Amino acid sequence: MFDKILIANRGEIALRVIRAAREMGIATVAVHSTADADAMHVRMADEAICIGPAPGTDSYLNKAAIIAACEVTGAQAIHPGYGFLSENAEFVQMVEDHDLTFIGPTAEHIRVMGDKITAKDTMINLGVPCVPGSVGGVPDLEAAKKLGEEMGYPVIIKATAGGGGRGMKVAQTAADMESAFMTARAEGKAAFGNDEVYIEKYLTTPRHIEIQVFGDGKGKAVHLGERDCSLQRRHQKVFEEAPGPSISPEERAKIGKVCADAVAKINYIGAGTIEFLYENGEFYFIEMNTRLQVEHPVTEAIFGVDLVREQIRVAEGLPMSFGQDDLEINGHAIEVRINAEKLPNFAPRPGKVTAYHAPGGLGVRMDSALYDGYNIPPYYDSLIGKLIVHGRDRAEALARLDRALGELIIDGIDTTTPLFHALLAEDDIHSGDYNIHWLEKWLDANM
Ligand code: ADP
Repeated sequence: MFDKILIANRGEIALRVIRAAREMGIATVAVHSTADADAMHVRMADEAICIGPAPGTDSYLNKAAIIAACEVTGAQAIHPGYGFLSENAEFVQMVEDHDLTFIGPTAEHIRVMGDKITAKDTMINLGVPCVPGSVGGVPDLEAAKKLGEEMGYPVIIKATAGGGGRGMKVAQTAADMESAFMTARAEGKAAFGNDEVYIEKYLTTPRHIEIQVFGDGKGKAVHLGERDCSLQRRHQKVFEEAPGPSISPEERAKIGKVCADAVAKINYIGAGTIEFLYENGEFYFIEMNTRLQVEHPVTEAIFGVDLVREQIRVAEGLPMSFGQDDLEINGHAIEVRINAEKLPNFAPRPGKVTAYHAPGGLGVRMDSALYDGYNIPPYYDSLIGKLIVHGRDRAEALARLDRALGELIIDGIDTTTPLFHALLAEDDIHSGDYNIHWLEKWLDANM
């Protein structure tokens, strides 16, 4: 059993892990950059170690410094949170080589799923339905044009190493192919050091539906239903909910079983998310994330489970504390992402938070590392809080979201809170009638 774990992250997700560990009686070590000396995760952990200067590449991505911090503090395991080193196979290998435990999947699973082409191949072999497209990578523009003609436009060109909405370009017609292909390639190379791309059919009106899976690493796995994350800006999620308003219990059971069986078959360990586009009643796999997702709390709310506690348990070699039959959906949950950004352009707005008040009351959870007087540094992600509400049904969750947003105070900086107030005035949000393009169109018309 672990006595002490290190959290290789910052912000709200570092607090999330510290809280789970504390409830399990496990001591925590925070790591931080010089810019984060006053951060909440540093204050909340049992111990804290500075691992480098402000830029993420010198601190939170500094593998050797993080391993050294484990050795110095005697931490036996590392929780990576999301982002930073959470899906870095080389880091996981390093952790294992130092006789430490990575609280997450194996280096091999991260490697396979981190490359979108090998991920898709693997899923096809495991019987998971995928978006129609190229078999493997597309070597050059000529091959891309040929495929475009064969498949029919529109198509999307995607960098195999892409992530966070980067390295993806849509070609609406043959005329767009050259620039889309070259741009996707260049972005893949610049952002991820890999210019290999593949092509798939561009679905025009899908919803984004993702299945939460969890494995024990020994051939047992469950699914925890879906999350609908269709409200996106620039392929980035801003509003997530569970269960999905468009998914029937039969569809959930069917696709959930396909996903749970797939990860069971590969002896997957820990939390994972299998992402799909959903159109006309069909699911199409797009990628798998081998980590805890930002939006995991909506799943926790409706199933009443602690996914981080579960991650720590299976990393210790313990069995999962629930089986498929124990998992029952209770009500509806919604999460909105509060970013330090100024509307309408979503320009980052770090700075000093002069006053902070978190909403509370029945069915409200605010995951945030803010406090009065906190100075948000300019070096990292602009996510500063996640407001999660849970109600007996979707209408109650929406009413609760409205109420909780009204209580939230973040003074001194601009945030994306006004966006959610505005969205709650829209009929489509209440009826749940939207696809992945709805928000972009709404922003164009209203902001
Ligand atoms: P990333 O790894 O950058 O998050 P994903 O493959 O998960 O990329 O795709 C992110 C988003 O891009 C999806 O949620 C969807 O909105 C859009 N997208 C990706 N593939 C397609 C496709 N084939 N057709 C239409 N939209 C797509």
